[in-house]
Amino acid sequence: MVDKLTRWLPITAISTEHAKFDTQLMQNPDISGVEYQQGELFGYEVKEYLLEKWGRKCAYCGKEGVPLEVEHVVPRNPKRGPKGTDRISNLTLACEECNKAKGNLQPKEWLEKLKQSRRKLDQVRAENLPKILRKLKEPLRDAALMNTTRWVLYDRLKKTGLPVECGTGARTKYNRLRMGLPKTHYFDACCVGESTPENLAIEQEYVQVWTALGRGSRKMCNTDKYGFPVSHRARQKMYFGFMTGDLVVAEVPEGKYAGRWVGRVAVRTSGYFDIKGGTGHRVCQGISHRYMRLLQRADGWQYEKIRIEKGGSGASSPGVNAGASGAV
Ligand SMILES: [Zn+2]
Repeated sequence: MVDKLTRWLPITAISTEHAKFDTQLMQNPDISGVEYQQGELFGYEVKEYLLEKWGRKCAYCGKEGVPLEVEHVVPRNPKRGPKGTDRISNLTLACEECNKAKGNLQPKEWLEKLKQSRRKLDQVRAENLPKILRKLKEPLRDAALMNTTRWVLYDRLKKTGLPVECGTGARTKYNRLRMGLPKTHYFDACCVGESTPENLAIEQEYVQVWTALGRGSRKMCNTDKYGFPVSHRARQKMYFGFMTGDLVVAEVPEGKYAGRWVGRVAVRTSGYFDIKGGTGHRVCQGISHRYMRLLQRADGWQYEKIRIEKGGSGASSPGVNAGASGAV
């Protein structure tokens, strides 16, 4: 894909979001530049790290899908006992309710209080608290944060000969919010990496979105729930000049699906095919191949032209654009 793009566009460098947060930075916050030392970007990295470590839920009560606050397990301003630090080994994530409930108590003090309470919620918290204390000391689990695909992608990008920059998801978010851009894939893409300019002027109206769909499975037969074969795949792939995954336009003159349809075709031996939309939902079914025209042969990719929603939520336009053209 990079080769394809560089043929058409004056691309001189690649920025890729390589990780959710900067692992090295988490271990040693002193190594980095001005932006980090000023604290704001570092805050984003810490938050992404904590989300990963604590599974995107409140560490005390386990609630998900609520706003989570960075919580000092040993409080910074305790009534008694040692003062907590801002070190990552003292931080977890908590919902507002739990954060308030704990207040500036030492974890041991809070545990005593929770154990005396009859509330179900407090019992859950009392159960979780010792686990949290153990988990705080755990080093960063690399297994959860590394995947091999990421490195394979990085190596392949390097082979293009272009300079490759690796950014973190945390930095992307920091950049995007700093510029007040809405959360969409394409605005995120503009904000990847340290090279993101201070000010970004986006004058394009459309963006090309390429999605790898794959070329189907290699399965030669389907099985029932016990693993016995139930149906075999046909040897033939092509029917009436079409194969599953081809992008087609159908002009249906009459009947339930009268009108013009664009989408991916699923072929049938009968010659009456289904058409699926960009997101995989069925657009229409049982359409004769005679009403269909090939727009683009299935190549394992989906090419979409999407109108940029400036300040909106970024809904996709219904038209599917065959072949790639326009701005990326
Ligand atoms: Zn909670």
